[in-house]
Amino acid sequence: MIFPTKEKKIEHLVVFEDEKTQKVLEDMGFYVEDGKVYNDRGERLKCPYCGKEITVDNTGGIFPGSKIVVCDNTTCILEHLDKVGYLQILDETL
Ligand SMILES: [Zn+2]
Repeated sequence: MIFPTKEKKIEHLVVFEDEKTQKVLEDMGFYVEDGKVYNDRGERLKCPYCGKEITVDNTGGIFPGSKIVVCDNTTCILEHLDKVGYLQILDETL
């Protein structure tokens, strides 16, 4: 699980354990029931890249600035990081 801590620039990538995913999602204002994740309008949260419905188990990355949650498909995570220009930083840390 990755969690960039700055809105405009990732200065830190916080990696946290899967057991904490639900708490992080709830702290960000999402509603979790039976492992399914809902936004503040009561709609199922979907990965903006592949459209898959987000669950606690398939959450791959959380981006607080935009409140974007992507699924655990590596392509989706990389696509988002690429879009916001952070792949170079990741390259250095992998
Ligand atoms: Zn996805």
